[in-house]
This record gives sequence, structure tokens and C-alpha cells, in this order.
Amino acid sequence: MTEAPAGAVIRTQGLSKHYGSIRALNDLDLEVQPGEIFGFLGPNGAGKSTMIRTLLGYLSPSAGRGWVLGLDIASESVEIRRRVGYLPGGIALYDSLTGMQCLDYLSDLQDTDPVRRPELIERLQMPERDLKRRVRDYSRGMRQKIGVIQALQHDPELAILDEPTEGLDPLMQQSFYSLLEDLRHEGRTIFMSSHNLYEVERVCDRVAIIRAGHLMALQKVEELTARRRRRVALRWRGAAPDLSEVPGLADMEVRGDRMTLTILGDVAPFVRAIASPALEDLTIEPARLEEAFLEYYADENGADS
Ligand code: ADP
Repeated sequence: MTEAPAGAVIRTQGLSKHYGSIRALNDLDLEVQPGEIFGFLGPNGAGKSTMIRTLLGYLSPSAGRGWVLGLDIASESVEIRRRVGYLPGGIALYDSLTGMQCLDYLSDLQDTDPVRRPELIERLQMPERDLKRRVRDYSRGMRQKIGVIQALQHDPELAILDEPTEGLDPLMQQSFYSLLEDLRHEGRTIFMSSHNLYEVERVCDRVAIIRAGHLMALQKVEELTARRRRRVALRWRGAAPDLSEVPGLADMEVRGDRMTLTILGDVAPFVRAIASPALEDLTIEPARLEEAFLEYYADENGADS
């Protein structure tokens, strides 16, 4: 059996998890490298939580193997859970404790100091008066903040976060994204699940797209977006630009001094062809992972199996 290569922070080989007849994970091979923000993207029911819980040893694989920080998920999960910062999906907290007591309690389960806690409390705007209140009175967003803080407070080399921005308001989502940027600069590795395409495109280096427990794609975000379609509208003065030599254009419509079209792939040849003082206006709709996502889901009709 091949062991995890020294460099990989997470590695799975043919990893499968079945719940009776439900095949939640099927033969997953993936590798997450140190310092990456890795997105695990799929709709509800795709198998994201199952993957995460299997990596942490809360579920045992039906087939295949996996390693986290070089440790075997089947036999060394206690050590994995001690070293990894983990945010479970829909985190359950102890309602009778205050927020701060929850952080203390969860921190005691790891045996390192919560060195990042003050910074996280500040960046996620968890005021002291709220931390002194009982969790039972917390909103969903406040619970999620406690979840994120407890996962990252001991500054783990690897954090595994299940839908980390669920329930966070847009401002807090931005704070969370900037936090991820800083963690990346410091060489930490993040594995996060999401069903939010914009979010994954915004923060991740690579993304695995999962559908009904199958890995559909595993790519750099820019590779996915580079081969996307972009919708373009432009307006000019005088003679129309000559686009006859530009590769990858489609759906071209000209009306007077306006044109709309689709660019498939690289935009550079198109941009070179239209660069002229005659150009008056140009809009290029950014490529979104959503389109890649829809491609992979096109035959699904919204079903997950
Ligand atoms: P996601 O996190 O992407 O929403 P899950 O990993 O929770 O997906 O679920 C994957 C599939 O496994 C779904 O079909 C779900 O209904 C099923 N499933 C999850 N947990 C269990 C369980 N404990 N028992 C039976 N089926 C489960």
C-alpha cells in the first residue's frame, strides 16, 4: 500500500463511504498540498460532510485509505483530531455555557494554547459582552463565529472547515476571507467545503467539484475560470473593429455601433483586436465558477443522485 507522500497534507486513495445502499463517497482520490486553500464544492447531499467526517475519523471508510498530516485516518484519528482545527457543519455548542466557556472547553481538547483567540475575536467582531452571554441566546451567526474561532484559535497547521461561512452576514464573510488570506500567507493549509461558488472562486487556490459522491473535477480556480465563457458588450466610434482573426468568438450580434458576443477561453486576442481609440465602451462579464458548476450538473436536473 502506498504511503502518503511527505508533502501532502491530505491524501485519499479510492476513498469510499456507503451508508447501507447510499453511496455517499465513491472512490475519491485527492491530494491537498501545504499552504493551499482547497475548496470542496458541491450542492447539499453531494458528500462534503461525509468526506470531512471520514478524514477526521468520525466515520470509518467503507473502502480506500486516507492520510491527514501523514497520519492514517483509520488508525490515527485521535492524533489527527488533536492537531487539526475542525469546524463541523451546523456546529452544536453547549447551550448552558457562555461563548467564552465554550471556547475554553473546546480549547482544552487540543493540548496547545489558543494563541490566535484574541485576534479572531476581534476580526470576527465578537464583543466581550456577547462572549459572557450563554450560547442558548446566540443567533445562528454568533454560533458560527464561535465555531470558526474554536477551529482556528490554536493556530493549527491544517484547518478543516465544513461550510464555514454558513450563517455569517456578508460583512463577516469578508472578514473571514481576509483571515484566510492571512493564514495562507503564514503557510497554513485550509480545506473547506462550500456550496457557494462565488466564495470558492474568491478564496480558494484549487477546487474539487463533487457530485453525488463522485469527484467531477479537481483544478486550480484559474484553470476552471480560464476556459469559461465570457459575455462581452462593446461600443465604438467609426468603423467596426475587425474581429475576423480572433479565435474563440461566438454568438456575435452587431447593431449599429454596438456588438455583443461570447468569448470562449483566452480573452487576450480579442482585447488586442479591439484596442483602438475608436473603442468607446466595453463590458466583459467575469467568468464564474457557477458556469463550470452548471456544466457538471447539467444532467442532474437538480437531483443529487
Ligand atoms: P453534504 O455535506 O454535501 O450536504 P452529506 O455528506 O451530508 O452531503 O451527505 C451525502 C449523502 O449521504 C446524502 O445522500 C445524505 O442523505 C447521506 N447521508 C449522510 N449522512 C447519513 C447517515 N448518517 N445515514 C445515512 N445517509 C446519510
